[in-house]
Amino acid sequence: MAICNKCGIELHKDEKAIYKRLINRAATEEELLCKRCLAKKLSVDESVIDEKIRHFREIGCTLFM
Ligand SMILES: [Zn+2]
Repeated sequence: MAICNKCGIELHKDEKAIYKRLINRAATEEELLCKRCLAKKLSVDESVIDEKIRHFREIGCTLFM
């Protein structure tokens, strides 16, 4: 199982996918961040990350399958 590199929380598969989609497609499990830490890193609200997850799923991004 993958955990957040910052806060140690267990990661949902959407959180792994959005990290890869927004930060680095080749990210290793050790550098992944949860939604909240990713939002902080990007200086956006957590809801923005949710919105992006929904968007990428809608356009059929394979990371979210
Ligand atoms: Zn975290």
